[in-house]
Amino acid sequence: ISSMRCDRAWVEVDVGAIAQNVREIQHLLSPKTDLMAVIKADAYGHGAVTVAQTVLQAGAKWLGVATIPEGIELREAGITAPVQVLGATYTPDQLRAMVRWRLEPTLCTPKQAFVFSETLSDHAYSVPVHVKIDTGMSRLGAPWQEAAEFVQLVDRLPHLELSSIYSHLATADSEDPTVMQLQHQRFQTAIQQVQETGIALPRLHFANSAATLSDRQLHYDMVRVGLGIYGLYPAPHLRSRLKLQPALQVKARVTHIKAISAGTGVSYGHRYIADRDMRIAVVGIGYADGVPRNLSNQMQVLIRGQQVRQIGSITMDQTMLDVSNIPDLELGEVVTLLGQDGNNSITADDWADKLGTISWEILCGFKHRLPRIAV
Ligand code: PLP
Repeated sequence: ISSMRCDRAWVEVDVGAIAQNVREIQHLLSPKTDLMAVIKADAYGHGAVTVAQTVLQAGAKWLGVATIPEGIELREAGITAPVQVLGATYTPDQLRAMVRWRLEPTLCTPKQAFVFSETLSDHAYSVPVHVKIDTGMSRLGAPWQEAAEFVQLVDRLPHLELSSIYSHLATADSEDPTVMQLQHQRFQTAIQQVQETGIALPRLHFANSAATLSDRQLHYDMVRVGLGIYGLYPAPHLRSRLKLQPALQVKARVTHIKAISAGTGVSYGHRYIADRDMRIAVVGIGYADGVPRNLSNQMQVLIRGQQVRQIGSITMDQTMLDVSNIPDLELGEVVTLLGQDGNNSITADDWADKLGTISWEILCGFKHRLPRIAV
């Protein structure tokens, strides 16, 4: 199988670019602020273990995952750095798995805190936990107005050790800072109220990539950066803050070439009809690999550094191109769907703009059937 790994299509992950992005981001941070690399969803499609090893070597101190299996994958690969589970967990079995694999849970409700403390009743030690407060994202977290009471409870319950308090921003990538400022005020108020209870403040964290790039006051003791590590900007207005390099490229091979005459329909539904005699190439990648079908007839790819137009519906495993301008094209030549070839490049933002979505979704969309090759 391994000799066949790149016979059809693959993802290339530039680990040097990831390390450089980590270093660039760290230049924005004060020495007291740590970096948590958010590597959920298989490190946004880049391969969690490779990315974890790379970011830790480049100076990140923490890893953030969404689920317990994502954390276990890191431990099984021998990664020993602290790993926080950012997603919701609530059962005793989940807690036992997290304790066994040294993964640190997020706590959002008093009930969850009671269940977790009770589950640990026969343990001689405490387990680090992270209290999440909802300051306006309306996803996970205790209401910010109840943060102090909740933190007091966690502090009092046996076997739970308050490791951090954190919150997550809903609009940090917007040019309008109003909601972000409101969330920040709420976070500050909640933290002040915790302080007034006399509890020593644990590590505080608040910023995602966009907030890390936009405002140092949001950095606190740690920033949780995902997208930036992979070399993409959360919004165009944040581009000037630092130089990031996209780390992921998606490549596939030409698997078949043929001539078709004017008037011939191409692919399912004949959504493209040749307007002239042309040469087309079939490329071994499709929507089952994570190329969104909604890009059909809208996508450009790169061959030999030139832009080439994709035609017809993208199918499950194969995609057609108009290669009339490359008469000597050969089977097996490499097609770049995302990435750099010569002076041209295509980014996840280009696809996201065409699809009316965000680059995060594009990156996470590449399926495991595509081998990840670290370069
Ligand atoms: N923190 C939390 C709780 C998240 O869910 C995420 C990802 O969505 C991040 C941080 C990282 O966000 P970004 O990729 O925008 O840096």
